[in-house]
Amino acid sequence: DLETRLDINSNDEMGSLAHAINDLAVDLQRYRDTRQEFFANISHELRTPITYLEGYSQVLQQELYETVEEKNKYLGIIHDEALRLQHLVEDLFDLSKMEEGKINLELDWVNMSDLTQQAVRKVELKAREKSLSLKYKENGMMKKIRGDKKRMEQIILNLLENAVRYTEKGEINVSLSYTSSAFLLVVEDSGIGIPKDEIPYIFERFYRVEKSRSRQYGGTGLGLSIVKKLVELQGGQITVTSEVDKGTRFEIQFYQQP
Ligand code: ADP
Repeated sequence: DLETRLDINSNDEMGSLAHAINDLAVDLQRYRDTRQEFFANISHELRTPITYLEGYSQVLQQELYETVEEKNKYLGIIHDEALRLQHLVEDLFDLSKMEEGKINLELDWVNMSDLTQQAVRKVELKAREKSLSLKYKENGMMKKIRGDKKRMEQIILNLLENAVRYTEKGEINVSLSYTSSAFLLVVEDSGIGIPKDEIPYIFERFYRVEKSRSRQYGGTGLGLSIVKKLVELQGGQITVTSEVDKGTRFEIQFYQQP
């Protein structure tokens, strides 16, 4: 489907040059496709909450409701959609900074234990609302790790929020272990899980396992792509294992510089 393709099939220098140029053209086309898809996704993600905001504010303005409960329901929707827009804009801003390589990490010695427990406390209320058990434990002697405190918190919180979001019953277990060479953070839930063939894609921006499912749960599809980038920027590694209707387990490993 490329408009420009050099048709030189000789085995000499010209041939290999043509080959290299063709490869470049393929890369460029792929880049254009993903870019176009990216902007199409953003437009879609922006349009949906705006449609809700417009529709429900009009309902309120024209007093097209019968009970106070109904009115409050619409106000709730407006509030949720405004929050969704806010998250989306923040996520997009983060992503664009990272893709440009312009994110400045503020490196410091981070106490992962404190940070993880703080993050756990932040999602405690949401977990309780869904009657989920939320537990934290740590193994080994905790030391500080070199990293960006705010970004570390963002990573942990994102995994925890997903765990709460995609779990309807059962438990969420968070653990932090320390060995002589690495830190291991595990966030494990007994939630809806991720189909095997979709696991490789969940770290891609805007990827969602079933679009409607994620929207119903209130996500943007950007969280995990940001998490993965932030983990890697700080020298770590993230892995996931999951089984549908059983649960999901995210592991983040940070290596300790000697
Ligand atoms: P979202 O904002 O939609 O949650 P993410 O990038 O954080 O986007 O996650 C991508 C997709 O991976 C989600 O839409 C969801 O389908 C799936 N996912 C992420 N975390 C979990 C989890 N703990 N359990 C089940 N599915 C998950």
